[in-house]
Amino acid sequence: MNTFQELGLNEDLLKAITDLGFETPSEVQDKAIPVLLEKESDLVALAQTGTGKTAAFGFPMLQKIDVDSRTTQGLILSPTRELCLQITNELKLYGKYCKGLNVVAIYGGASITDQAKQVKRGAQIIVATPGRMKDMISRKLVDISKIQYSVLDEADEMLNMGFYEDITDILSHTPEDKSTWLFSATMPKEVSSIAKKFMYDPIEITVGNKNESTSNVSHEYYLVNARDRYQALKRLADANPDIFSVIFCRTKRDTQKVAENLIEDGYSAGALHGDLSQNQRDLVMKSFRNKQIQMLVATDVAARGIDVDDITHVINYQLPDEIETYTHRSGRTGRAGKTGVSMVIVSKSEVRKIKSIERIIKKQFEKKDIPSGMEICEVQLMSLANKIHNTEVSNEIDKYLDSINELFEDTDKDELIKKFFSVEFSRFFNYYQKSKDLAVSDSRDSDGGRDYGKSSDDTRYFINVGRKDGYDWMKLKDFLKEVLELGRDDVFKVDVKDSFSFFNTEKALQEKVLTFFTDYKHDGRFVNVEVSENRGRSGGGRRDKGRGRSDRRSSGGGRRRDDKPRSERRSRRSGDSDRNDRKRSDSPKPRRSKSASDRPRRSRR
Ligand code: ADP
Ligand code: MG
Repeated sequence: MNTFQELGLNEDLLKAITDLGFETPSEVQDKAIPVLLEKESDLVALAQTGTGKTAAFGFPMLQKIDVDSRTTQGLILSPTRELCLQITNELKLYGKYCKGLNVVAIYGGASITDQAKQVKRGAQIIVATPGRMKDMISRKLVDISKIQYSVLDEADEMLNMGFYEDITDILSHTPEDKSTWLFSATMPKEVSSIAKKFMYDPIEITVGNKNESTSNVSHEYYLVNARDRYQALKRLADANPDIFSVIFCRTKRDTQKVAENLIEDGYSAGALHGDLSQNQRDLVMKSFRNKQIQMLVATDVAARGIDVDDITHVINYQLPDEIETYTHRSGRTGRAGKTGVSMVIVSKSEVRKIKSIERIIKKQFEKKDIPSGMEICEVQLMSLANKIHNTEVSNEIDKYLDSINELFEDTDKDELIKKFFSVEFSRFFNYYQKSKDLAVSDSRDSDGGRDYGKSSDDTRYFINVGRKDGYDWMKLKDFLKEVLELGRDDVFKVDVKDSFSFFNTEKALQEKVLTFFTDYKHDGRFVNVEVSENRGRSGGGRRDKGRGRSDRRSSGGGRRRDDKPRSERRSRRSGDSDRNDRKRSDSPKPRRSKSASDRPRRSRR
């Protein structure tokens, strides 16, 4: 790997790179920058999201343009407004020592006159979305007849979005002898045909395998009855208390509806789709970046510009129509060296699509069951316990300590703990205790398939190591197999949470496992394994999928407000939510699809 100096970049750019804290070029930068600097050639580069493509075309373009001229020399087309702004900002950072540089963003939903004014001041580089660009060309507000470099960024996505005509039209106003650089995460037919049409003998660069999804991402699917989709989503969220996720829906309407339901149910969620005003979209993105929103529900198109590094989960509420799109979705997580999980909620009729996706991404999905209510309670409880354990003590309460101590004079520690947790947890338990099992068997024969045999013969364990200790499910499984000297399939249903995890073995192995982990130390700390109270849905009994509606009602409707569970995330703004609760439960008609008064609640902190 070269250093940035060795790539041939000039002092102004190197200084900016130092300021940005980039230490070494990424693979796509390493491959693209030297050739783009040296040659006047076309280029096709295939690289996943998050691999640093902006700098791969940005640095060479900045170095090659003449900042002393006011002529527009570079044009970058990108699919969405968000992405367009992101690229513009990055280029401004990269070029901050290039005196006289003017980079202008052109996109829909903002004043065209303002944008035209900025262009008129002399923009050497224009970053644009195709629609607005075409508009500005036809109104003669821009002149791209002298550009030397054009970039098609996220070309696959632009074509997905139906920009083929616009791109063709725009490029027809550019000189024949310019260089065109095309960047794409995937290479569907349409992209190769556009490459053929607009490019002359392009240099090809591929980073990683074509169409292969990021290796830091593990893929899981959850089979549910189609009508349980929303319930399933909530359970996935509840089973992952620290979730920070993008939830993908197929249509704007579903996106809006799911987000609204989540918000109503007390989750910190927001919607991102094309029917929102720019202003609304900006606000949602801002809250998401600040982590005020934990669950961003989005359409594929709107989510295209999201550049947020620490997304823990991508949830496919519905599978995309195009399998290619799945790669984009799952690439939202597992960025910047972190691990991530891409979850898919599928109904039986869609489950075969999983196979096609596996072929394309060249990775296996793990089939998992939607967590049972009791499992969720355990996760939430342990997560709360961990949080309390790790909380820094505030000395503000010292002055009340005497009187509190007096109150608890006769309460021993165990009892105190129980009381404390009961305050937080009774409602949650009550809610989930009565909830049904959402798991659906994969095969016709409910014992078969990848369900790991008869579940009543399993033991589910709790283990006090998790993601924080560097484990994902594969690593934990390997670790357990190794230390316990077990076979390939002896450990299953491994479920890794932040600071603890669960796994199953057959009951016959229970004694061996528990004996081994008495007093076992790993990396200097005790690794503790206990039998988990719930058995990973195994005891709950799988429901006959033929029966439906009436069961569902009975699990939901008509519970009193008091039964409403709430998680540890109970809002500081509980005043607000209580007001909402009241409004809802006073409403004369119960909601058709879900009863408002009995959902577990989570709120923003
Ligand atoms: P892509 O367009 O391939 O999805 P971006 O160009 O948006 O990726 O880059 C993703 C992130 O990585 C950005 O925040 C960018 O500033 C950062 N980045 C790019 N190149 C480097 C590098 N060489 N070293 C460190 N960070 C980088
Ligand atoms: Mg990009």
